[in-house]
Amino acid sequence: MIETYWNHLPDVRAMYPEELEALILSLGEKKFRAKQLFEWLHKKKAASFQDMTNLSAAFRSRLEQETELVTLKPVQELISQVDGTRKYLFELADGNVIESVWMEYKHGNSVCISSQAGCRMGCRFCASTLNGLERNLTASEMLEQVYRISSITGKRVDNVVIMGSGEPLDNYDNVLRFLHLITDPGAGGISRRNITLSTCGLVPEIRRLADENPGVTLALSLHAADDETRRTLMPIARKYALSEILPACDYYFEKTGRRVSYEYSLVKGVNDTAEEADKLSALLKGRNCHVNLIPVNPVKEREFETVTRAHAGQFKNMLEKNGINATIRREMGRDIQGACGQLRRSYKAHRSMQN
Ligand code: SAH
Repeated sequence: MIETYWNHLPDVRAMYPEELEALILSLGEKKFRAKQLFEWLHKKKAASFQDMTNLSAAFRSRLEQETELVTLKPVQELISQVDGTRKYLFELADGNVIESVWMEYKHGNSVCISSQAGCRMGCRFCASTLNGLERNLTASEMLEQVYRISSITGKRVDNVVIMGSGEPLDNYDNVLRFLHLITDPGAGGISRRNITLSTCGLVPEIRRLADENPGVTLALSLHAADDETRRTLMPIARKYALSEILPACDYYFEKTGRRVSYEYSLVKGVNDTAEEADKLSALLKGRNCHVNLIPVNPVKEREFETVTRAHAGQFKNMLEKNGINATIRREMGRDIQGACGQLRRSYKAHRSMQN
């Protein structure tokens, strides 16, 4: 039985259709009620059992008492004046807060979701990890970020990126469940090809994901072309060397046919020189891949400096000259604390001052 962390009641929004059916039968209801319930939970994105008007009042009350309907409460919405990007803070049932982002691109609308409250990976440039990991998110809490944002904006969600706070492969089972439900035509209905999962490089889990092949794009947070530099930015690099990570990504490509993206945040004076661009080209040479360059988003608790747009352009040209595909990630929502985990952090600091 799939249950919530906080009250151990069955978490209906996280259940697969057959699990929901077993639950409904155990509550003495007819099988077809499970289908109706699943539709309310996913297609209609119901925020309460009382909204489910084709279920009897007695059944709705029973569901209310004996199960949990995970619905996220929006506590803050910031809309960028520059590009329409919106950032949401949601409160969870246990009082934790998480952030999610809405972005409109020419090729469709994207939602960036968090996979954990906090993170324990410790990347030096990242705000999400400053207070460590609070807890994993459930599949329903990940789905709800997409559902609530789509209800609030009234627009279709085309793409989902798991690039918010948290390390998705450190919350493997819940993330896999989320992936199955968000791509289920009867639930989230989002095409597998339009989902990207970003990881700092947990090798066994990358291989496991390749074997289970939920059909999504893998993005690998590389950020350096050698282990020594990578270790200064990402503690996880002490556990897994590039000589293990790259073969795991190759394996992902072989198994899934999906081209892997490599994320490379440019940090002034650390990984942005011509020498680094050559090293990166040599490392990725011959691979069917794509490099996403991101001028590092400065976080006030960290000392790292970002690079200019022009410098990022030069770095990109050097990669392209060496035959490596690269794009510079458009900076979205700079005026609304765009960097991972920044908004959640400032909200928590403010709340603790009030308490
Ligand atoms: N844990 C996952 C996903 C979360 S972060 C991962 O490591 O991939 C999504 C991407 O944003 C990662 O590539 C991460 O390294 C990067 N990132 C985090 N903070 C950043 C910052 N301040 N500036 C630029 N990129 C950042």
